[in-house]
Amino acid sequence: MQFGLSQEQEMIVSTVRAFVENEIYPHEKLVESLGTVPAEISAEIKRKTIELGFYACNFPESAGGAGLNHLEFALVERELGRGSMALNHFFGRPQNILMACKGDQIERYLKPAVRGDRMDALAMTEPDAGSDIRSMKTNARRNAGDWVVNGTKHFISGAEHADFVIVFVATGEEDATIPKKKITTFLVDRGTRGFTIRDGYKSVSHRGYKNMILEFDNCRLPDAQVLGEVDGGFAVMNDWLYATRITVATMAVGRARRVFDMMVAYAASRHQFGQPIGKFQGVGFQLADSITEIDAADWLTLASAWRLDQGMPANREIASAKLYASEMLARITDRAIQIHGGMGLMDDLPLERFWRDARVERIWDGTSEIQRHIIARELLRPLGA
Ligand SMILES: Cc1cc2nc3c(=O)[nH]c(=O)nc-3n(C[C@H](O)[C@H](O)[C@H](O)COP(=O)(O)OP(=O)(O)OC[C@H]3O[C@@H](n4cnc5c(N)ncnc54)[C@H](O)[C@@H]3O)c2cc1C
Repeated sequence: MQFGLSQEQEMIVSTVRAFVENEIYPHEKLVESLGTVPAEISAEIKRKTIELGFYACNFPESAGGAGLNHLEFALVERELGRGSMALNHFFGRPQNILMACKGDQIERYLKPAVRGDRMDALAMTEPDAGSDIRSMKTNARRNAGDWVVNGTKHFISGAEHADFVIVFVATGEEDATIPKKKITTFLVDRGTRGFTIRDGYKSVSHRGYKNMILEFDNCRLPDAQVLGEVDGGFAVMNDWLYATRITVATMAVGRARRVFDMMVAYAASRHQFGQPIGKFQGVGFQLADSITEIDAADWLTLASAWRLDQGMPANREIASAKLYASEMLARITDRAIQIHGGMGLMDDLPLERFWRDARVERIWDGTSEIQRHIIARELLRPLGA
């Protein structure tokens, strides 16, 4: 076993860490207060990421990306996780599901997304279909050789900046006896007739990283917009989307480390009753528990990425990493506020923001309950249960 990073991996970490500290941290307070990212700042982050050679670093070199493996990409995401989601969105990592592009989709979607010329968003969730995604109502029906799409998607991150959206749509029933839809994936351009992107809800987590509502009203799409196979959307989802759970986990670790550094520094410098508060066992033990939990989440996450690189099964491990890391971040951000006392709640410090931001990590990309469900299923299935 080898637990150290190679020189190249160390360089990835230090390069992205420096980028986040120099290009993301300085704008965080502004974005938090505006609830949006000013266009000149997003353009600057994008330009500098391209210059650095990290834009679309999750894509293979054959597609124009940096060709990082799962472990290296997890290291990138861990460092990005230290900074604001709204801002690091422009350190572009297009959905790797775009690798399913075929024929002229490669020139129209894959290559421009990897170059940073066109931005994407991904839409599965609906008002009546969250965890139970196969009960979705947005549907496409055949009409005069085209597909006609109707329905609503909500909570769609980054769609306000998207030039096109990867949308999952019901194209039939799997079986008349079970309410499970056959799903097809479509590429839908902004501006397509019958397709509207509008403002969504205001979330307490990750202000400035907006979620949008997508409406399809008799939106007509030709076959050329189908990504993958007709009725094969669930397979496309399973083939490509598992890795986003590693991103949630590893970003939680990065953010927890940033919060932890503040906790330790404060515990060492804040004096009450004539000594640093960290010397009170009640505070020192919180530091001890925190670093232990952060390290555990870090190893669990990196090991699950490593398993993918080895071609080993990793479904259970990725679910464990997402579950543990997102719940760990909630505990760390809460403790950080406790250790900072009243100041922890004031917006002079970023801690109340980290605490709010942490809340969504247990919900998006599969709730904690769904991760537990996956883990239990993976344990019981081989036993026939
Ligand atoms: C800010 C934000 C951004 C998002 N961005 C995107 C995006 O870009 N694209 C996208 O497609 N989606 C996105 N989502 C959707 C996100 O993935 C869903 O919110 C998530 O999958 C949960 O769905 P739901 O909110 O409808 O909750 P529900 O599925 O309705 O769940 C409600 C509760 O019931 C529990 N529950 C449900 N089923 C079970 C079960 N079988 N066993 C035990 N408990 C269960 C859940 O764990 C949860 O506690 C985003 C969500 C948020 C909040």
